[in-house]
Amino acid sequence: MATASCSSTFVPGTCLGSVNSTIRRKKGVCFSRVASIQASLDSNVSDMRVNAPKGLFPPEPELYRGPKLKVAIIGAGLAGMSTAVELLDQGHEVDIYESRQFIGGKVGSFVDRGGNHIEMGLHVFFGCYSNLFRLMKKVGASENLLVKDHTHTFVNKGGDIGELDFRFPVGAPIHGIRAFLATNQLKPYDKARNAVALALSPVVRALVDPDGALQQIRDLDNVSFSDWFLSKGGTRASITRMWDPVAYALGFIDCDNISARCMLTIFALFATKTEASLLRMLKGSPDVYLSGPIRKYITDRGGRFHLRWGCRQIHYEKPQNGEAYVTGITVSKATSREIITADAYVAALSLSLSLSLSLPPPPPQINRLLVTSLKQRSQIR
Ligand SMILES: Cc1cc2nc3c(=O)[nH]c(=O)nc-3n(C[C@H](O)[C@H](O)[C@H](O)COP(=O)(O)OP(=O)(O)OC[C@H]3O[C@@H](n4cnc5c(N)ncnc54)[C@H](O)[C@@H]3O)c2cc1C
Repeated sequence: MATASCSSTFVPGTCLGSVNSTIRRKKGVCFSRVASIQASLDSNVSDMRVNAPKGLFPPEPELYRGPKLKVAIIGAGLAGMSTAVELLDQGHEVDIYESRQFIGGKVGSFVDRGGNHIEMGLHVFFGCYSNLFRLMKKVGASENLLVKDHTHTFVNKGGDIGELDFRFPVGAPIHGIRAFLATNQLKPYDKARNAVALALSPVVRALVDPDGALQQIRDLDNVSFSDWFLSKGGTRASITRMWDPVAYALGFIDCDNISARCMLTIFALFATKTEASLLRMLKGSPDVYLSGPIRKYITDRGGRFHLRWGCRQIHYEKPQNGEAYVTGITVSKATSREIITADAYVAALSLSLSLSLSLPPPPPQINRLLVTSLKQRSQIR
C-alpha cells in the first residue's frame, strides 16, 4: 500500500521478497510493514524444534486432577483458542462461541468467493512470544514460521533507508548496544542522548534483576513514553526518527500516547534475550498456517466451534454481600437465540467488547469482575 506521506517507516526485516501493509497514519507519519522473508521458504531455519534456543517453549502446566468441567468460551481469536487448547488438554469439555463466520479474530483470515485469502492484517511475531510458539509447536504449526534476518529497517521519506542491525556474533545485550551505536537512523547527538536515557532506565537493571526491573516498568503505565524519554534526556528527533515507528509497530499509536511500560517492557526483553528482537512471520495466510492447525487440534479433541453465534448477554447473580457469579450467557445467530449454561465461562474478547456485552441493564458487578481479572492478569505477566 501507499507510503508516500510517511516521514519514517519501520520495517522489521531485510527485503528480499516483501509483503507491505499500511497500518496507520497520523501527523504526516505513517507506519508500514515491509516484512522480508528468507529466500528459501522451506529451509529448515523455520523449524524451531531444531533451531530455537532452549527455553523458547515453556513447560506444560501441571496436570489438573479435579472434576471435568463444561466450559463456554466467547471469542475464537488466539486468546479463546489457546484457552480451548489448554482446557482440552486438561480433560475439560469446550464450546467456543464466535460472532464472525471465521475464526482467528484479529489474526484471522478467510477465503473470499474469488479464492483470495483475506487477512485481517500482516502479523509478525517477536522471538519472545514463547507462549505462542509453544502453542504452535503443540498443534504442529511451528514449521509454518519463517525466520527473518535479525535486522530492523526504517524506510524514511524520500526512500532513505535506516537500519537497526542486530546481526552480531555476540548476543544480548552486546548485539543491541552495537545495533544502537551503529544505526544510521539517528544522528550522533541523538544517539548519545538516547544512550543516556536508556542507561537511566530499568532496562539496565533488567540485565541483573529482570523481575525487579519489570516491576519498576509496570509502575510506569500511567506515563507516556515521550514524557518518560524526554525527562531522561532523550530527544524529540529520536522519537520522530526511531521510537514513533517502533511504537506504531507495537501498539498502533505514537510515543505521546503509548505508555512507557509498553515500550520499556519490550526493550527489557530485547536487552536480555538475543532471540527477543528476531522476527518471524507465517508462511502464508493464518487460516492455513495458524488458526487452521489450532482449529484442527481443538476439533480432534472434541472441542466445538459455534460460528456466527455471538454472545449478547452475560447473566449473573449476586447473593447479598457475596461475589457476583455468572449463571449463563445468551448467544444468538440470525433470529435464533439460546441461553447457554456451563460450569465456567471465559470471555476472550477485548475489554471494551466484554464490557459492552452485558449492557443493558447496567452490570457493575460483572464490569468489576472483568476489569479486576484483567488487572490481575496484567500483574502476573
Ligand atoms: C492489523 C493488525 C496487525 C497486527 N499485527 C500484530 C503483529 O504483527 N504482532 C502481534 O503480536 N500482534 C499484532 N496484532 C495484535 C494481535 O492481532 C492481537 O493482539 C491478537 O490477535 C488478539 O487476540 P485475542 O484473541 O485477544 O482477540 P481477538 O483477535 O480480537 O479475538 C476476539 C474474538 O472474539 C470475537 N467476538 C467479539 N465479540 C464477540 C461476541 N459478543 N460474541 C462472540 N464472539 C465475539 C471476535 O469476532 C474475535 O474473533 C495486530 C492486530 C491488528 C488488528
